[in-house]
Formats: sequence, C-alpha cells, structure tokens
Amino acid sequence: MRPTEDTYRHKGLRRKLTDGIRNKGITDERILDAITRIPRHFFLDSAFDEVAYEDRAFPIGEGQTISQPYTVAYQTLLLQIRPFEKVLEIGTGSAYQACVLAELGAQVYTIERQKKLFELNKAFTHLKKYPNIKFFYGDGYEGLPTYAPFDKILITAAAPEIPPKLMDQLKPGGMMVLPLGVGEVQQMKRVTKLDRGKIKEEVFDNFSFVPMVEGKK
Ligand code: SAH
Repeated sequence: MRPTEDTYRHKGLRRKLTDGIRNKGITDERILDAITRIPRHFFLDSAFDEVAYEDRAFPIGEGQTISQPYTVAYQTLLLQIRPFEKVLEIGTGSAYQACVLAELGAQVYTIERQKKLFELNKAFTHLKKYPNIKFFYGDGYEGLPTYAPFDKILITAAAPEIPPKLMDQLKPGGMMVLPLGVGEVQQMKRVTKLDRGKIKEEVFDNFSFVPMVEGKK
C-alpha cells in the first residue's frame, strides 16, 4: 500500500532533504522548490514512510529503484530545463524524476521498458496532477520518433553508449544528459548537439545507476 496523506511531518522532512541537497552544492532554487513540493513518500510503499526523505535510492519493485534525490537534482540541473521545453526521459521507474521535470514546466515524455512499472504508474492517482507528463511503454533505445525532436533528453539508467537513435531525436542545440558506462560506476555526461553533425561532450561526477537494457519486458 502507498500512503496518500501528506502531513506536516512529511513537509518538514522534505525541507530538511532540500537543505541537505543545497549543502551538497545544488543551489538552484527552482529545482529545490520542485523537490519541496513533491511528496516523495507517495512514490514508495508505506513501509518506507520513515525513511522516504533520506537522500538515498530505494527499491520500487522489479529490481529497480527510485533515484536518490541528490542525483535527480544533479541531472535536472545539467539539463537546464526551461518552461514548455519538450523533454524525453528514458526510464520512468517510479515517475519521481518525471514529476520534478513537470514541476519545472517541461512537457515530459517518459518511457519505461517494464510493463509492471508502467501499469503501476497508470494506477497512481497522484500523477493525475501532471497533465504535462505523457507515459509510454517501450524501449528507450528507440526513443519516440513520432514525437521528436526534443529540446532535452534525460537517461536515468546506465547507458553503455550514447544511443544513436536518441541523438537523432534531439533538436539542433539540444542536450542529452546520461550516466555513461558499463561497470558499477558511470560518468555523468552532457552531450550537446551542435550544427553540421558535431557534438560537444562534457563529463561530470561519477554515479551508480541500474543498467539501460534493450527491449521491452
Ligand atoms: N527515473 C526513475 C529512475 C528509475 S531507475 C525514477 O525517478 O524513479 C531506471 C529505470 O529505467 C528502471 O525503471 C528501468 O526499468 C528503466 N529502463 C532500463 N532500460 C530501459 C530502456 N531501454 N527503456 C526504457 N526504460 C528502461
């Protein structure tokens, strides 16, 4: 069962969480406000109620996790989201990251390869609050050619390479943020699509994500 009540205690814990993220160096108040507004405990089983506002990843079933809030804030910061931008997210998971993007005013398209997680989100009433998120069941390596091009693309699973079809679905000047690597630890990268097929690659800190897997399940 998932909790549906957002108490003063939860709100207080949320402020402490955002203070912690700010102290770790992410000072963009728009992102911190978004995290303060989203009841993260709604995205977890009530067994996690006591710990939902610790800055940690937690299991959400099917061997997957809800990302650590610091990681969500970090990837969101690198994406430089502006209101009304079209953003493609690969790896919906709990849909928490999608909600952060939606709170920033983005038009979010998010893909999940696991049917069970996709179905869980369909039944998750809190998400009705966000008409600016569209949910898709599919393989993120394919992207969403029908809805392309996108201003920004965010991959929330460890990618062994920059998926070429996703690069094609990025607007000129658009950016993709992804944890790149095959091992336990990946490097956060930001790839900007420049003119005439050129790309700019920037490298940031190391993180540890679950792998991006090909095909649907
Ligand atoms: N953004 C999520 C993090 C989820 S963990 C959140 O905020 O909770 C990564 C997710 O990526 C998992 O749910 C996993 O099933 C999904 N995933 C892995 N490979 C994928 C692929 N090729 N296409 C779509 N989703 C994928």
